[in-house]
Amino acid sequence: ISVFDHVVRAPEDPILGVTVAYNKDPSPVKLNLGVGAYRTEEGKPLVLNVVRRAEQMLVNDRSRVKEYIPIVGLADFNKLSARLILGVDSPAIQENRVTTVQCLSGTGSLRVGAEFLARHYHQHTIYIPQPTWGNHPKIFGFTGLSVKTYRYYDPSTRGLDFKGLLEDLGSAPSGAIVLLHACAHNPTGVDPTTQQWEQIRQLMRSKALLPFFDSAYQGFASGNLDADAQSIRMFVKDGGECFVAQSYAKNMGLYGERVGALSIVCRSADVASRVESQLKLVIRPMYSSPPIHGASIVATILKDRAMFQEWEIELKVMADRIISMRKQLFDALRNRGTPGDWSHIIKQIGMFTFTGLNSAQVTFMTKEYHIYLTSDGRISMAGLSSRTVPHLADAIHAAVT
Ligand code: PMP
Repeated sequence: ISVFDHVVRAPEDPILGVTVAYNKDPSPVKLNLGVGAYRTEEGKPLVLNVVRRAEQMLVNDRSRVKEYIPIVGLADFNKLSARLILGVDSPAIQENRVTTVQCLSGTGSLRVGAEFLARHYHQHTIYIPQPTWGNHPKIFGFTGLSVKTYRYYDPSTRGLDFKGLLEDLGSAPSGAIVLLHACAHNPTGVDPTTQQWEQIRQLMRSKALLPFFDSAYQGFASGNLDADAQSIRMFVKDGGECFVAQSYAKNMGLYGERVGALSIVCRSADVASRVESQLKLVIRPMYSSPPIHGASIVATILKDRAMFQEWEIELKVMADRIISMRKQLFDALRNRGTPGDWSHIIKQIGMFTFTGLNSAQVTFMTKEYHIYLTSDGRISMAGLSSRTVPHLADAIHAAVT
């Protein structure tokens, strides 16, 4: 008899559970479109050449030691990360109004930001888009913040429910926190246009709503790092405050290295430095200090002009391959005469297509075609290749006819 006999089995994570089911399937034609990780045309995970090169340099540098790094992480990494997301000429950085701390990828950055807000911010309500990445409600809910949703996606147009979004944020209590996906919204692939971002910004600033940006796909959406940071930069340009959680999982392919950053843009340098002092009190009892390796890779690449350019090229290759998969899947469905309008496949942005397939259709595709995806009909375009597009198109065609 165990003292833990009362512990009930928890359900599998809805996203990671897809891979668990996939691994159990012996079929040679099985296809995993569940998890959001980049794959090459050959279906293999990719380590960027520039990352390999940076790692080699780090290994060869005998002066490097394994001492603890500061609670807030590597100084170089933090400075360069802020510049990457806010722009090299960001006045907020020049005025020292930004505090950046190295965290455990995007998830850790969101969590540290959430813990800080729960302790030090007057308004404990956070609005997250409906739908959003499945981890968001848990990350914020566990810190004691009250999680509410705002309308985001309109299934009838498979686009943005802009009117609903404005109504919901318009009726949010003053000061409420609002989670925004900086680009490549997960799972819908639907982003506001620049004009819509501007309206969102005006509304949020007029109601003193606090923006918390989740940037998990900078450069991965359009292939351009600056373009994918535009939404955030609009909110920083107006002089107001905001939170940004950055992840290097996708854009540098550093998934398992767990490297990311939380930046808090404040009104003044004095506020920023006091905020940072409190962030340390959040981090210290959680994991004491972050790991060295991933952040050293990132800093090595960001600070060297040639390596940075090499990264930009490799990043563009990944983004372009995903865009080309959209086109190929769209064409394949058109060629099959699959009923329905599938133009959202080429309109949506980033790693995922929100197909509009319902959970019964998803179950059918898994059972009959060994294609694995989340039950909301989200497919990871990065998991596709020219070779597997026909199989997916056949499955979608059969599912809807
Ligand atoms: N936010 C969003 C919207 C994501 O899709 C992801 C990755 N799936 C993350 C944050 C964080 O991922 P990680 O912790 O691996 O950086």
